[in-house]
Amino acid sequence: MKKPAGKLWHFMGGLHLPDHKDVSTRTPIQQLGIPGRLVIPLQQHIGEPAEVLVRAGDRVSKGQIIARASGYYSASIHASTSGTVVDTIEQPIAHPSGLSAPCIIIKPDGDDRWGKLPPQQDYKKLTPSTLRSLIREAGIVGLGGAGFPTFIKLNPGARHEIDTLILNGAECEPYISCDDMLMRERAEDVIQGLIIMRHALQAKRCLIGIEENKQEAYDAMRLATHALGVADVEVIMIPILYPTGGEKQLIRILTGLEVPHDGLPIDVSVAVHNVATAAAVYDAVEKSQPLISRVVTVTGDGVHGQGNASVLIGTPIQELIEQFGGYTDKAQRLIIGGPMMGFTVSSDQIPVTKTTNCILVASPQETSPPDTHYPCIRCGDCMDVCPVSLLPQQLYWYARARDFDKLQNYHLFDCIECGCCAYVCPSQIPLVQYYRFAKTAIWEQERSRSKSSLARQRFEFREDRLEQEKRERAERMRKKKAALNKPKAGSDANEDPKKAAIKAALERVKKKQATRGVEKTNVDNLTPDQQGKIQQINERRATTQVPAQNGQTDQADKPGT
Ligand code: SF4
Ligand code: SF4
Repeated sequence: MKKPAGKLWHFMGGLHLPDHKDVSTRTPIQQLGIPGRLVIPLQQHIGEPAEVLVRAGDRVSKGQIIARASGYYSASIHASTSGTVVDTIEQPIAHPSGLSAPCIIIKPDGDDRWGKLPPQQDYKKLTPSTLRSLIREAGIVGLGGAGFPTFIKLNPGARHEIDTLILNGAECEPYISCDDMLMRERAEDVIQGLIIMRHALQAKRCLIGIEENKQEAYDAMRLATHALGVADVEVIMIPILYPTGGEKQLIRILTGLEVPHDGLPIDVSVAVHNVATAAAVYDAVEKSQPLISRVVTVTGDGVHGQGNASVLIGTPIQELIEQFGGYTDKAQRLIIGGPMMGFTVSSDQIPVTKTTNCILVASPQETSPPDTHYPCIRCGDCMDVCPVSLLPQQLYWYARARDFDKLQNYHLFDCIECGCCAYVCPSQIPLVQYYRFAKTAIWEQERSRSKSSLARQRFEFREDRLEQEKRERAERMRKKKAALNKPKAGSDANEDPKKAAIKAALERVKKKQATRGVEKTNVDNLTPDQQGKIQQINERRATTQVPAQNGQTDQADKPGT
């Protein structure tokens, strides 16, 4: 076996665990057939679920987009084969709590007919931004388990630049061997995917970390770098120590850099991607194929055949188990992922998703959760093995006490849930369960805090708006009044405005009267009797008329008189 190349660093803690990988690496990756039905969850990634684009009865082609990313932190979903959409309904999914989530159900037609794929492009001629969009369109997320949308991790932003791009081929968790087999069988595709990602990130150098127990994969990858003429890509063998595959641990081993508490790899100018993600990027860019399948390890004493298979996303786990010969009498627990970081599910009707790397059908001897646990004896063993230098025992106490402030002060969110602390705990305390529970509770609290702060902001905004409207109304009234009270041109500025208005009205009446006097008509051919009556009326009017200067209106000018 080759020795590790160049200088390597160490991280604190960690465990030497039996790897149990031999049994699933004896045969090549199988090509699993098309299942009777596909159950494709809308959320297979960190972030927002995708938005459905199809309806029941729609015919879809292989690779056709069926749900579009609904925001920045989201990923599109594509049909894994051709067929007919049956429905979009809630189905149980792979989740520790056994929850259900919306899934698109497709009945395959067996033709496995590809739809129209986007034209292939020379990635070297694309800008990093266009390349990221292409990778986004293909629905690629981190295939190492986290499921973070890949295009985001390929975008360092304006304020950062990436010095080192690391490809994670450590695959340190026992039983899991899908990355190992992928590197053995598709080494050139993985390396080409890496080079494409380097272009997107404009990274200066590339390192690939592979644990010592994967000699064949290491050789294949070295060979591929030579065949492709990319001698500047360093393939490095690293010591076996769980969890070397953790992002921060791998960075430490390969570069000696420490990602700060609450920090990200980008803070030390490093980006880390999984080898399977690199292969998916290659498929998307060089073949225009979206992410519709992945390699899954099927292993454990509870299943007859053990190995790896390329599986269509949405394939029910039950069909996968059947493909490997079905359950043995020893089958006791169905675990998604490995024995350290995986979680138990209660049904095999849940589908394979983009992040399903392993199905472990465990016998009681392999992983049997302790029936009971005992009080903490403060031995400190948990602290010695923590690869993140946390104080697991303190975290346990604060999680029990639901002291969320203290948990955050003790860097709970740096915990990678590797399970080392629980593995060594003599009191068999399920420590990771306490941490997961506490993290969920804190997220929930943060969510409701930000919701109520949003509600408060909305309320305050409304109050401000109403107050502003009130002020504007008052200002309008003030201006109107001022305009009314403003003396007209030619009037006395000291005069009472009301009196001035009455005076002006009287002036207008006088003018009118004068005009009427001039315009008297039909008075030429009156009889003496008529003339007498007019004379009487005029005399009467003269005696009843009130002088205008008394400030009273002329009664004769009133309507109806
Ligand atoms: S290993 Fe277990 S018993 Fe020992 S200090 Fe940690 S939590 Fe307590
Ligand atoms: S599960 Fe968390 S606290 Fe425990 S050893 Fe791993 S990182 Fe440390």
